[in-house]
Amino acid sequence: MVLPKFEYKKAKNVADAIALYKGRKGKAVYLAGGTDLIPLIKQRLSTPSAVIDLKGIDELRSVTSKDGWVEIGANVTLFELKNNPVVRNNFPALYESLEATACETLQMRGTIGGNILQETRCLEHNQSLEWRTARGFCLRSGGKECNVVKGSKICFANYCSDNAPALVTLGAEAKLTGPEGTRTIKLSTLFTGDALRPFAVNAGEILTHIRVPAKKTKGAYEKLRVRESMDYPLVGVAVSATGAGAKICVGGVGLKPRMYELKNAGIEAGIKEILDKASTDAKPVANAVLSPAYRKKMVGVLIKRAVKRTIGEGK
Ligand SMILES: Cc1cc2nc3c(=O)[nH]c(=O)nc-3n(C[C@H](O)[C@H](O)[C@H](O)COP(=O)(O)OP(=O)(O)OC[C@H]3O[C@@H](n4cnc5c(N)ncnc54)[C@H](O)[C@@H]3O)c2cc1C
Repeated sequence: MVLPKFEYKKAKNVADAIALYKGRKGKAVYLAGGTDLIPLIKQRLSTPSAVIDLKGIDELRSVTSKDGWVEIGANVTLFELKNNPVVRNNFPALYESLEATACETLQMRGTIGGNILQETRCLEHNQSLEWRTARGFCLRSGGKECNVVKGSKICFANYCSDNAPALVTLGAEAKLTGPEGTRTIKLSTLFTGDALRPFAVNAGEILTHIRVPAKKTKGAYEKLRVRESMDYPLVGVAVSATGAGAKICVGGVGLKPRMYELKNAGIEAGIKEILDKASTDAKPVANAVLSPAYRKKMVGVLIKRAVKRTIGEGK
């Protein structure tokens, strides 16, 4: 598949990127590693008239520790982040989710910002223009209804970042800068649960940093995928614990990551309630390569596995 024509601009810094965006009246998109965006453009699922490359922006490339936070630049690659000693020593859930993301060649190109802001996915949507034309366009491609859940006016595409659930369990925040200024929000509030507009990111805003409280945690990440060598999550469960409490986040199934909290209890106490709630919340549909019933069942299985490994039981 060949790329269509578009204007390419390389930004020197964040202010320059925003100015380039503003000059293109909403028709531009930002590019980081391009591992998500370029296939979408090739498939005509994204049709920008201009692409603004953020890769040359040095201020987005570092990991720093300051004032009780670890601040991660959005352009840090998944591979660099995985091999950062602060991540390895303090954030095991994140280390494992980075290790589980695609394969090392993709980790060397893909960035943490692009990973969080990757588009939602569906077997009926992530296809070539020819395939979708022959099949009949779904809601997401401008059709009248969802092709998976017939009659539905809701898109059920899955949000597939492996690393967002781990970051949510760590209490991460997202720093965004755009035409209207800079703001910092809880990462968990970045996800809208609407597959057609999955992120609470305003036009022209750049995710500049993700910051994580600089606290040592215990944790684990468990992932269901078909190919162990490289595959998107069909369910992903992150657990991070400090002291007696723990945060559990389920991703890969449904429209956004869902967080559950065990407060002031031993990590084993209260787990039943979370298992019940997470299984009820997970409502997979037939838009991925494994059956909805199996993926739903695996939510509970992976929560148990991740919790067991967090408390030092099991492999
Ligand atoms: C074969 C394959 C396997 C994959 N497997 C996995 C997997 O197992 N797990 C997983 O989590 N993901 C997977 N991915 C998805 C994705 O490619 C990677 O997660 C990668 O990290 C995306 O980062 P990128 O820098 O390449 O993003 P890009 O493709 O450059 O950008 C992705 C999106 O984010 C936007 N964007 C990027 N950076 C910014 C920013 N700083 N501010 C605002 N917007 C921004 C872009 O406009 C675009 O919409 C896979 C992709 C492929 C092609």
